[in-house]
Amino acid sequence: MKVKSLQNCGRCGLCLQVCPVYKVSNQEEASPRARLQVIKYYKNNNLESSTGLKEIISKCLMCGSCKAICPSGINHYSQFMEMRTAMVKDHGEKPVIKSLVYLLAKESRLQLAAGAAKIGQRLIPQTFIQKYNLGNIPLKRFPELNKKPFRQAVPEIIHPENSKKGTLLYFTGCATNHAFDETGFSTINILKQMGYKVIIPKKQTCCGIPMLFHGAGEKAHKNVLINIECLDQKDIKAIIVDCPTCGSALKTEYPELLERLEQDNGAANRVASKVIDIMSFILQESGDDNFTQAKEPVRVTYHLPCHLKNSQKTANNTEKLLDALPWIRYDKAMDVADCCGGGGTFFYEYPEISRQMVEKKIKNATDTGADIWLTDCPVCRINLSGNLTEKDTLTVQHPVQLLSNVPFGK
Ligand code: SF4
Ligand code: SF4
Repeated sequence: MKVKSLQNCGRCGLCLQVCPVYKVSNQEEASPRARLQVIKYYKNNNLESSTGLKEIISKCLMCGSCKAICPSGINHYSQFMEMRTAMVKDHGEKPVIKSLVYLLAKESRLQLAAGAAKIGQRLIPQTFIQKYNLGNIPLKRFPELNKKPFRQAVPEIIHPENSKKGTLLYFTGCATNHAFDETGFSTINILKQMGYKVIIPKKQTCCGIPMLFHGAGEKAHKNVLINIECLDQKDIKAIIVDCPTCGSALKTEYPELLERLEQDNGAANRVASKVIDIMSFILQESGDDNFTQAKEPVRVTYHLPCHLKNSQKTANNTEKLLDALPWIRYDKAMDVADCCGGGGTFFYEYPEISRQMVEKKIKNATDTGADIWLTDCPVCRINLSGNLTEKDTLTVQHPVQLLSNVPFGK
């Protein structure tokens, strides 16, 4: 860790204005600026490692808003990740987080766990499911897991029905693979209609972000290398992602991680240059005459995930597409770009802070009068829909699902 870069902080306070945790707690110690200061003191041996210090570093959504706004160009992410590694080494990790990291580190483990959880969803008594929460989300509101992992349910190579425009790789991420297969089917459906051959590399595995964010860099490193190997292919037009966090991993974190480790990141940079989220790809490929067929009108609102806004810099593409489609009435929520408080496992670790954020989001989304609440991120989706109640009429889905059954082109 370079202490020098921490000294670049001019304490301007811009990062405080965008930090969702600071906005809720209003305490300097919960701000990105303070986190950087304590890291500096720790690195200079002026502050001892303690559980209190671990708490200050952990109470962060890793949303990236501080990094995106910082005029001094400080890479908060890398500072926080390195500090989290040190804190986990000194003070251990909560059992639930430790288990999650263990499972995500190996695809075979994750598949076994998903299979067992699927059986559990059927066999665990409803009285138990109705009663308990995981963080601020009632168990009964977690999504039903896929009948079969998405990547096993589809062929590795999918050929288009019409013209052949080129080849795309599709990185599905764990959420589509195990919980939201309708996102995957919709994505394939649209790409096929566009005339693309789609390859879904079977060897792909968790992008590693949950491990990196929880101080398990070594485990993440293995996944990073596996994914780079299967995505660094010749004659590929683009690498499609449907999850903003996987996208930011492939686009930004992989090259930076390998650079920090002083390893060759040429392949990671080649992969990064091809990564694009599905909604941006659709927008890029769409002409005026696409998606114009009559369809039942729908009324939607949208939640912009932090990792689209801050890491992939494709903030408005989904909204641009929603605005362009005549059969969609898009009503923007006043806090469309505010963090929902999901933050990977933040909703579990800090449910009180998370709840305040998500309740505000739900109120503002409901006020738009929309029927469908769109968001590209699976964790945001779990958090938003998990915190709706029986009286709420909104349903939450990935925006690509809206386009799945609409013929593309004339
Ligand atoms: S925005 Fe950057 S320079 Fe300003 S206080 Fe935050 S970390 Fe320091
Ligand atoms: S990553 Fe997000 S939550 Fe964490 S300190 Fe930065 S702005 Fe705050």
